[in-house]
Amino acid sequence: MTDKYLKILEKIQEADSIVIGASNGLSISEGYNIFVDDLSFRENFGDFREKYNFYNIIQGCFYSYPSEEEKWTFFSRMFEYFLYDKKPSMIMKNLYKLVKDKNYFVVTSNIDDHFTLSGFSKERLFEIEGNCRYLQCSDVCHDKIYFGDEILSKMAENQDNGKIPLELIPKCPKCGGKMQVHIEIDRSFLKDQSWQSSYKGYQDFINNSHNKKLVFLELGVGAKNQMIKAPFMNLVNHEKQATYITVNKGEIYIPNEIYAKSIGIDDDIEKVLRQLVKMKQSV
Ligand SMILES: [Zn+2]
Repeated sequence: MTDKYLKILEKIQEADSIVIGASNGLSISEGYNIFVDDLSFRENFGDFREKYNFYNIIQGCFYSYPSEEEKWTFFSRMFEYFLYDKKPSMIMKNLYKLVKDKNYFVVTSNIDDHFTLSGFSKERLFEIEGNCRYLQCSDVCHDKIYFGDEILSKMAENQDNGKIPLELIPKCPKCGGKMQVHIEIDRSFLKDQSWQSSYKGYQDFINNSHNKKLVFLELGVGAKNQMIKAPFMNLVNHEKQATYITVNKGEIYIPNEIYAKSIGIDDDIEKVLRQLVKMKQSV
């Protein structure tokens, strides 16, 4: 086992570029599982569970709320759950320690903003499905997203019996219509200028890494993931000096074509990163 870890550290050390790909498994390792009816969900969203009969955060995101007051009660609570007064988790701190001095780029479908919270540069981050602390016009009447911390915090703090004061409900500054959190829950998801430039940043990073020592560090991405995993495996296959590192508990998939260039660890991501940082510091 130690050999694998040493190999990973060596590959990271030698790398010209590192691409981190992260999905639900990373959040689960941090303690945020948006797909289950666990203790954390019951403690933080128990009133919604009772009122609407949904049993996890993802169902809450897709729920059709009867009113704007009720919709924003949920989304401001979710914001607070992920971010309000939060400090980065140990797992995110360790991930940052591992790559902060390297030329890195992050691509993630996580919407909790935990990467920037932990020190990762916004310029080196592509959040494919958005970020729960930004808002957009639901009618997509203009190409802009808005930083929502202030209003989301206010709504989270002023909840009464599953509702928020009407005057707090955000309205589009251009058309006066409804707004929504900037996460991909329906076809209205706005691929605004900042989304486009992050996407381009990711493509440029990959293009500039062509023929160089390129490491793909994949954390908690499901075996059938088409957004992050499939492109990673394809690039590893075509790039001569690429290495594919995949960490996920109970779900490791490495195709034969790239087997020789790959290192897979089937274990808890928190544990793996902690061990890697410990070994890095003792080298
Ligand atoms: Zn609008």
